[in-house]
This record gives sequence, structure tokens and C-alpha cells, in this order.
Amino acid sequence: TMKVVTYLLNWRKPELLEGENSVSKLPAVIRSKGIDNVLVVTDNGITSLGLLDRLLEGLQHEDINYVVYDRTIPNPTITNIEEALTIYKQNNCQGIVAFGGGSPMDCAKGVGARVANPKKSIQQMKGQLKVRKEIPSFFAIPTTAGTGSEATIVAVVSNNDTHEKYAITDTVLIPHVAVLDPLLTVGLPPHITSTTGIDALTHAVEAYIGRSNTEETKKFSKEAVTLIFENLNEAYTNGTNIEARKNMQRASYLAGIAFTRAYVGYVHAIAHTLGGFYGIPHGLANAIILPYVLEYYGTTVHKSLAELSDLISLGTRTNTDAQKATNFIEAIKQLNASMNIPTKISGINNTDIPLMVERAMKEANPFYPVPKILSKQDMFQLYQQIKE
Ligand code: NAD
Repeated sequence: TMKVVTYLLNWRKPELLEGENSVSKLPAVIRSKGIDNVLVVTDNGITSLGLLDRLLEGLQHEDINYVVYDRTIPNPTITNIEEALTIYKQNNCQGIVAFGGGSPMDCAKGVGARVANPKKSIQQMKGQLKVRKEIPSFFAIPTTAGTGSEATIVAVVSNNDTHEKYAITDTVLIPHVAVLDPLLTVGLPPHITSTTGIDALTHAVEAYIGRSNTEETKKFSKEAVTLIFENLNEAYTNGTNIEARKNMQRASYLAGIAFTRAYVGYVHAIAHTLGGFYGIPHGLANAIILPYVLEYYGTTVHKSLAELSDLISLGTRTNTDAQKATNFIEAIKQLNASMNIPTKISGINNTDIPLMVERAMKEANPFYPVPKILSKQDMFQLYQQIKE
């Protein structure tokens, strides 16, 4: 019982700093925690754009030492985590700042898990509740609006040697502070805006239709779905619209809060295999797979998708749930198409499918409260459908 109580108490939300230029407020918050030496985890796309500058100036201003690790790759690897950990230790850091999309945030979570457990490898912490010990103070600054990692208990990491992509899940990985500064996302290129935005939509939808949803997660999912349909295309076509960027950041955060409590489903299980095997960006994979899986679920999800369809005023009151669900799936397809997201995934090798099916089923079936359990045969069919 004690373990369960501690676990539930730990299921916190990050302290939020929100709004334009809120990143400038973070250094004082770090200082107020008595920290004067941090590791900043990011990627070289971000450093080359100069996006870190305001943060680094602020840290200097507060007399906080920092060292930057910027070699994180999309779908971050165990190697990334170990490299960043070495730098953390060499510099006697006391806290971790993640600056970037899901990849730097998850890499940073991995570093935190390793600092807390110097004797456990990342591989040994795979799965649920294996980190356990408190990680160092952890500050997350998302620069994409998609993963929600700034609010979640999950780090998704890849093993280059085995092509595995798996989750480390523990409440201690929830960032202590998250910064939602829309100015950091205005330069996000359209193709990343679109796919990461649909990643957030996937979180909201999978959390909503799954069997572990609660009143709270349903509310957050609905808010996220509404915000995404109202703002994503605008953020894609008019990237400097701060209001649209702010709303997408909010949507991504809310979807993160929802899915970290209610979990995801087959869309994610399949996307993770494609990330592990071919490095296909997570958001892109989710965007393409989402409509296929929703269609595959069939009648089981008609009622819940009809509820989501009502949020964005698709169809009329006289439509049946089945019609509304179809309209909702159609609306996702249209949103994808309007942002030039393809309908199929190229580069899937037939010979890889059996192992991917096995891994996706292993990820989904014990862990995800999916609306309907799919068979091995269903999964083979889904891979054939999404394959170019
Ligand atoms: P990403 O972090 O991989 O970044 C993609 C690219 O966008 C990079 O090249 C980066 O340099 C660039 N970029 C980021 N912000 C930018 C900006 N503001 N301006 C210009 N370029 C910018 O992408 P992502 O989709 O945010 O993260 C994907 C990873 O997150 C995957 O590994 C996925 O599995 C994981 N993920 C984690 C969670 C979680 O809860 N932990 C949830 C969903 C996905």
C-alpha cells in the first residue's frame, strides 16, 4: 500500500512558466532552488538557430554555470544519454535543463534516471517504475508543440544496436518545472509544426478512446482536440501567429497531461517500431497511422469519436455516431492533407514486418488500455495498409 500511496502522491504536474518570453524567467527559478550549475540538453538544430541564446544569457545573469550537450538526435539513443551523463558528471552539475522537442527532453530524462541510479543501465530501467529514486531538479523547455514530454512520466529511447525503441516510465521523470514560451516555436518549420501537432492530436485521441480515461483526462483531451483543430493549420501556414503557437503549445501540454494518465494505444505502438527500425520521426509516423487505426477499431470507437466530432461541429445532430465518427476520421485525413502529410509510409521492408508486429503487440497488449485488442493478423493488415 505504501508504495502505491507514494506513487500516487508523486503523480504531480510540473510547475508552469507560461507566455511570451517566459524562458527568461527560468534562470531566477533555478537560482531560487539553490542550483548554480546545470547541464543543458538540446540538439544541434536548436543551437545552430541561436534559440538557446535567451536562456544562456539569463543563466549568466544569475551566475549559474552551464554546460551544453547538443548532440541529441531525433529518436534519442542510449549513446546520447551516456554522452550527456558523462558531461553532467565531469562538470559536477546539480540540475538538468532540457531545451528542444521530445528528443532532447527524453534524452534529459534518461540522464536524470542515470544520475539517480548510477548502477542501473538504461536497459535495466526499461518499462514501468524502475527508476524510483528522485532525479536531480529537472526543467523542461519544449520548442515543438507535440510530444507533451514536459508533462509526462515517459522517456522514449532507442537502442541503435537492436533497433528497439522503448519507454522508461516513472513518475519521478515528470519535469519539476515546464516553460511554455510560444516565441520559441515561431521558427518551427511547417513540416515539423504539422507532424508534431498531429502527435499531440494522437495523444489526445488515444487517451480519450482508451479504457483508462477519467473525467479529468477526458476534459483535457477534449480541450486539446478543440485547440488543435482550431489552430494547427494556422500555425502551419502562418508560423508567426503567436496566438496559434500559444494555443498549440497549450494543446500539446494538455494532451501530455491526459495521455500520461490514460495512456496511448496501437498508433503509438506501431509508430515506435517505425522509429526504431527506420528512424521515422514520431510525429510523422503517428499522423499517417492515426486514421488507419481509428478506422480499424470500427464500431468500438464510434461513440467516443462522435463525442470528439461534436467538439468541432462536424455533421448535424441527426447524424448517427457512426456517421460522426467517420466525419471525425475524415477531418483528420483532411487536416493531414492540408499540411502535405502523406497517406502512406515509404521504406517499410516486408521482411521487417513480422518482428515489428511482434514488438508492437508486446508494447500495446500488456500496457495500453486500447479500446479493442487487435490480433496478430489485424496487425499484419495494418502494416500492409500504411505501407507505401
Ligand atoms: P524532435 O525533438 O526530434 O525535433 C525534431 C527536429 O525539430 C529537430 O531537428 C530539432 O532541431 C527541430 N526543432 C525543434 N524545435 C525547433 C524550433 N523551435 N525551431 C526549429 N527547429 C526546431 O521532435 P519531437 O517530435 O518534438 O520529439 C520526438 C521524440 O519525442 C521522439 O523520440 C518521440 O518518441 C518522443 N516522444 C516522447 C513523448 C514523451 O512523453 N516522453 C511523447 C511523444 C513523443
